[in-house]
Amino acid sequence: MTSNNGMPFPTERGFGERNDIADRRVDALARDTILLVRERQMSTRESLVRSREETMDKRDNLAQEREHTLGTRESGVGDHERGMREAERLKRVLESHIVKLRQANEHLVITTVRTQAMAEQIQQARDRMGHMAHHDFLTDLPNRLLLKERLAQAIALAQRKGHRLAVLFIDLDRFKVINDSLGHAVGDQLLQEVGQRLLAAVRGSDTAGRQGGDEFVVLLTEVANERAVSELTDKMCKAIAEPYQLAGQVVHIGATIGISIYPDDGDDADTLIRNADVAMYHGKLDGRDRCSFYRPEMNLRAVERQRTEADLHRALDRGEFELYYQPKVNLHTGAITGSEALLRWTHPEQGAVAPARFIPVAEECGLIVPIGRWVLREACLQAQRWNLAGLRPGSVAVNISALEFRHTDFVAGLRAVLAESGLAPSSLELEITEGVLMRDVNASAAILHELKAIGVMLAIDDFGTGYSSLSYLNQFPIDVLKIDQSFVREIGASGGDGVIVGAVIAMGSSLGQRVVAEGVEEREQLQFLCARQCQEGQGYLFSRPLSAHGFAAFLTRPGAACLHC
Ligand code: C2E
Ligand code: MG
Ligand code: MG
Repeated sequence: MTSNNGMPFPTERGFGERNDIADRRVDALARDTILLVRERQMSTRESLVRSREETMDKRDNLAQEREHTLGTRESGVGDHERGMREAERLKRVLESHIVKLRQANEHLVITTVRTQAMAEQIQQARDRMGHMAHHDFLTDLPNRLLLKERLAQAIALAQRKGHRLAVLFIDLDRFKVINDSLGHAVGDQLLQEVGQRLLAAVRGSDTAGRQGGDEFVVLLTEVANERAVSELTDKMCKAIAEPYQLAGQVVHIGATIGISIYPDDGDDADTLIRNADVAMYHGKLDGRDRCSFYRPEMNLRAVERQRTEADLHRALDRGEFELYYQPKVNLHTGAITGSEALLRWTHPEQGAVAPARFIPVAEECGLIVPIGRWVLREACLQAQRWNLAGLRPGSVAVNISALEFRHTDFVAGLRAVLAESGLAPSSLELEITEGVLMRDVNASAAILHELKAIGVMLAIDDFGTGYSSLSYLNQFPIDVLKIDQSFVREIGASGGDGVIVGAVIAMGSSLGQRVVAEGVEEREQLQFLCARQCQEGQGYLFSRPLSAHGFAAFLTRPGAACLHC
């Protein structure tokens, strides 16, 4: 083809070349895109297909544009100017399509990567959930469920091979005191540490799991005899008893272990765990052995406890409770300063039941709240009767359990009892243990201030046994510290040097608190206490707890003015 001046059409070759380039680039782009699309995962297939369709559309458009350009050239209408402009436009269109394709491609890559990451996250979450369902969140030891599964498997294996296996039920001693006094964070750390020590003490084939609270269960597969089990449990007890360094403090804890053996004490997981628990409970009550093997007669103890609970429910209505009063004495003058009201239960068949046997049961089942209300009312009414009779009974102290102290009606109930009895608030002393106060320091302080505003006296009972932080004690409006009898017992003929008693007396006097020594039984103890300027004492040396009638007689007996002379 020639131009008007006979020269080859200058743009013909140019157009031809550009068309070829456009063709090749479009084809190459389409090829690349299709290849990319093929590489993507199934999850992004839809967007890929869409993208490929878009690419095809673009290619069709480009082809149409090329045909249009060719048509224009063949009809001889286009000139050099127009051809150049058309070529420029085509180039821009191409470039914009290339940018769009690149963007689409990048988007696809990002989508693919995200989808893969999500798939991995979902798998991880699934694995974690599976782990959580079978492990304890705090210690990461196998939980109740997994332990039972492993125990069931171990039983099946032991049955086939004729092995024996052992289940240990481990309960920490006085964990509640540590948890209440040092806080839940320290309690949690302690449980984690105990879990680690148990794990370190057992063999790889054994399982150590957390049952809940401060209870752990260990499964020992293949045990030769009771002696072998005893050796292992001793090792565990020693490991648990090693001191713990928690939150900058040294903490000590012990454990009681109950043991059941397959096949002697049961042939299924539930029975073996239950009987190990019964043996542990028996060990706790007994207080002598750290580790107890299950014996069938132990079940009787558990039954007995249930019976105590049932009988306690009826005791209040049937009038089986009575208050005894133990005198408190001024150690310098010997005068009676008051009394502590102590609950006594006379069971219709069993006779006198010791408070140590029934008060923990009443606390556990919540009955201590109505029983405590009865004690408070009875003590206030009795003290006021003595006052009205001109007997000068001094103050009356009433023991308050954790559940009563925290009960929403406690303060209102106390006000009502004081109003009903007419007893001066300053003549009533409430004895609360450290553990109760430390459980929630802020709430305790609020209640104590409310009580103090009423005008009653506040005493810390069994002082020295509860891991109290002295800085907290200083914040409470406490009038009296009662030194626990276990420290008093260390003084004198039978004991040591009474360093703790001396320190508590000194601390109490510097904080402006009255100090009462509990459980004074020996003259040496009295002398020691007097020499250390302890103001008051209570104990068998002066008097055992007495009935209301007995206490009235005690107040009026000749020589009652001086008990220690
Ligand atoms: P506690 O409040 O520390 O009471 C002192 C306990 O020591 C009493 O035991 C008392 O009889 C005993 N005791 C007093 N002097 C001596 C002594 O010289 N030597 C010895 N070995 N013991 C002495 P009890 O009456 O058996 O009460 C035991 C615990 O039961 C009380 O300890 C108290 O925590 C609780 N309790 C008693 N009555 C009540 C009550 O009405 N309500 C509540 N919540 N708890 C009570
Ligand atoms: Mg007391
Ligand atoms: Mg006490």
